Amino acid sequence: MRHIAVIGSGPAGYYTAEACQKQFGDAVRIDVIDKLPVPYGLIRFGVAPDHQSIKAVAKRYEAVALSDTVRFVGNVMVGRDVSIAELAQLYDAVVLATGAPADRPLDIPGATLGGVFGSAAFVGWYNGHPEFAQLNPAFDAPGAVIIGNGNVALDVTRILAKTPDELAGSDIVAHALAGLAESKIKRITILGRRGPHQIAMTPKELGELGHLARARPMTDPKDFPPDADDALLEPGVRKSVTHLRDFSAPQDGPTPITIEFDFFAMPVALEGDGRVERIIVERTQLDAQLRAVGTGERYAIPCGLVVSCVGYQTPPIEGVPYEHGRGRFANSDGRILPGLYCVGWARRGPSGTIGTNRPDGYLIADHIAADIGTGSRKAGRAGLDALLAERHVDIVTFRDWLTIEAAEVARARAGAPREKFVSVADMIAARG
Ligand code: NAP
Repeated sequence: MRHIAVIGSGPAGYYTAEACQKQFGDAVRIDVIDKLPVPYGLIRFGVAPDHQSIKAVAKRYEAVALSDTVRFVGNVMVGRDVSIAELAQLYDAVVLATGAPADRPLDIPGATLGGVFGSAAFVGWYNGHPEFAQLNPAFDAPGAVIIGNGNVALDVTRILAKTPDELAGSDIVAHALAGLAESKIKRITILGRRGPHQIAMTPKELGELGHLARARPMTDPKDFPPDADDALLEPGVRKSVTHLRDFSAPQDGPTPITIEFDFFAMPVALEGDGRVERIIVERTQLDAQLRAVGTGERYAIPCGLVVSCVGYQTPPIEGVPYEHGRGRFANSDGRILPGLYCVGWARRGPSGTIGTNRPDGYLIADHIAADIGTGSRKAGRAGLDALLAERHVDIVTFRDWLTIEAAEVARARAGAPREKFVSVADMIAARG
């Protein structure tokens, strides 16, 4: 028998469990361990609440979770309840699928002012992540600034711009819906430190901005290179740039909310008395390596809310080699140390779609098969249970999760949208 522990129950974790199941059949026991009492990581807490079709992939993970060889071990935090060294004693392979749940810091003066949030916190807030449920952002100023030209910037912009009716059918949490319903935001500025040809936004997500009920995206034709240059772009980026060019067409009339793309605009400082009142931006131009270089021209954009969507990083774990510059575990093709592996964003850094994690999981399953043979008679889940019982850790199982999920659906029956539990205590209480 082989014993495998997967730390993290998001896409990378469940694709790894699925791949190990396929690799070893009945001759494996896989524990998927998560610090929260609920599974699915990024699917529940990161994917935009109005992108329910993306969240539907959780059904695939459920099939894996309900099989005899795999179990979910929720409410167990590695580093607090059990250490990596202890897991290495108990399991033949330990796989870190911990994602990249921390914001890359926005390293400019004023970044700690009130009203300035990283996207991990802000997205976690509207998705009901227990660590961010108390964020309480204010939407009382007309200006909001989103920093970054990736898909997370688009998600945040869309959620700020949508009407409550447009959010019906989503699983945005009640506190976020209530806060956004009072929003006084009239102008959302999306800052890109480089130009339209350098965006990291994908066409489908960008196209959605063009179909909002009360908000219109706007670009400035002066920011674009000649049309013919688009032919040089990779097809996906070319489609995205076509959307951006369409957004520069004259508007029919005033709209309640404008979404302004401000390209070649690098944030240099945030200013305000306790809370952000303006962002100072420097015009840029691109150097020969297509890096943004400041021109010295600066201007201020008034705003009461800033969300920095400049990418994520994997939090380090004591004793695990870490690549600080790239914000991920130091690894060679997923191998960290003998018996210790990483997958998904913890291995590659935060890039790609949910599906990108699938081949990652299969790669690690191949490595594990090559490295551990038929296993080495370790204690596996029985050993973990004994250790956690000794420490009075209250494990939440996948069956418990199904009860929690049913309770969430029941709460929502009274009215849309679906209401999630936003505290660990409430989640645990809901399992009955
Ligand atoms: P991302 O795609 O890496 O984009 C980060 C953006 O931040 C880039 O435009 C980058 O500009 C900018 N940036 C970085 N540092 C900056 C700084 N100091 N000042 C100003 N701008 C800065 O990251 P993401 O948006 O967080 O997305 C993470 C991954 O999740 C991506 O693969 C994304 O496609 C995926 N995702 C997908 C979906 C979806 O499919 N619907 C939704 C959300 C996220 P430079 O290019 O100049 O570095």
